[in-house]
Amino acid sequence: MTDHDVVIVGAGLAGLVAALDLTRAGLDVRLLERAAEPGGRVAGEIVDGFVVDRGFQVLNTSYPQVRRRLDLTALDLRQFVSGALVRRDGRLHRLVDPRRHPGGLVSTLASGLLPWRDKLALARYAARAGYRPVAELLAEPETTAAQALRRRGIGDAGIERFLRPFLSGVLGEDELETSSRYVDLVWRSFARGRVGVPAAGMSAIPRQLAARLPDGVLMCGVDVHRVDGADASKAGTNGSDGAQVQHSGGRLRARAVVVATDPRTAGRLLPTLAVPPMRPLTTVYHAAPEPPGTGPILLLEGGDDRLVANSVVLTDAAPEYSRDGRALVATSLVGAAAADVDEAALRRRLARLYGTPTDRWAHVRTVHVPDALPAAQPPLGDLRRPDDLGDGLFVAGDHRDTPSIQGAMASGTRAARAVLQAIGPA
Ligand SMILES: Cc1cc2nc3c(=O)[nH]c(=O)nc-3n(C[C@H](O)[C@H](O)[C@H](O)COP(=O)(O)OP(=O)(O)OC[C@H]3O[C@@H](n4cnc5c(N)ncnc54)[C@H](O)[C@@H]3O)c2cc1C
Repeated sequence: MTDHDVVIVGAGLAGLVAALDLTRAGLDVRLLERAAEPGGRVAGEIVDGFVVDRGFQVLNTSYPQVRRRLDLTALDLRQFVSGALVRRDGRLHRLVDPRRHPGGLVSTLASGLLPWRDKLALARYAARAGYRPVAELLAEPETTAAQALRRRGIGDAGIERFLRPFLSGVLGEDELETSSRYVDLVWRSFARGRVGVPAAGMSAIPRQLAARLPDGVLMCGVDVHRVDGADASKAGTNGSDGAQVQHSGGRLRARAVVVATDPRTAGRLLPTLAVPPMRPLTTVYHAAPEPPGTGPILLLEGGDDRLVANSVVLTDAAPEYSRDGRALVATSLVGAAAADVDEAALRRRLARLYGTPTDRWAHVRTVHVPDALPAAQPPLGDLRRPDDLGDGLFVAGDHRDTPSIQGAMASGTRAARAVLQAIGPA
């Protein structure tokens, strides 16, 4: 009585991963995607010959799902330096992870950005988050990141001049009110992995996953506007079996439906679902005639002004992001007001940050993602939230795990497992 075994709504990373596992188990699957391409928040576009991702984001090689699922060699990952350049009072301080960049040890130790006490406390924090087992980190009392970092002996200088700007672009907020547990996991991933972007752009990640799906599974340009569980759809349709999906082109019945959309749409399609508040992120892309000379490393403002979360010359890591040799600079801003940032004023700020004139820089694109990241506020509760909602309905996405590429793929994996448990393989 059903059209397919499983219908998955949304071909972001969570939906793609779920579709891969379910088709591999021999099930008849349809993956419906509203956009013209899969990828969701990891999609991208070409603008004026530049690769423009859906906001500045990076792939972390320590993510277990990345190691398990992705062919990193084929993605041709272009890595950034592990660390940051911090501009404060006109001076540029270089802080790098000496395990990965031994040549940067002296500049990191000699930098006057932080007092010794904060440097040592930071090193202790990094070692703890990087090397203690995850279970131990998650067993620690949970509080806000700001409180936890202070409790670990990191003073105002360490927090205001380095950690707040460094973490704000990752967390999508600059008050450090995110859960200390989640921040421990973020730090762990930085300590254990390298970050980079595929040479062809972040959208190469969903493209790689989608290419492994059997023909006909992925259907783009299909907007789902209603989902009903088995009981509800039975009531309305003379007792037919299965859950039901209504979309722009008609209706589909399936033994299981997985809602793998963005959190806000998931909350609309599944009204009983609790969805977290979302954090916005804005990335302003500029083209510079020549690279400003910082190299492939994140640039932070270590002062009191919080307009810019971070800025990076993407083409210093991935020259392939530019077709004509001009440099592509991505500047990340947090908060809703960033959507209305005055581009010319921002460019003047970037001149101070980079220490180079920016009047010949051209604005390429401003990418504002209002629902960029689910807020990971304390108490986080169980990081692995339930995926089986009953009546043949399942849910997946980064809002069911950590707000990250890892979280989205881990959730898709779990949802597929839950479907297989419920309906069995083919
Ligand atoms: C600016 C920015 C920076 C980020 N930085 C990082 C980073 O550095 N590292 C990191 O790990 N993570 C980062 N992230 C987070 C990461 O991109 C997301 O956590 C992840 O991509 C979420 O995947 P998802 O599959 O859960 O959801 P989504 O990517 O939102 O996918 C949902 C899919 O459902 C589709 N859809 C929605 N509604 C419907 C409908 N009605 N019918 C059909 N289809 C529908 C959407 O089009 C979309 O394709 C960043 C995100 C942003 C936006």
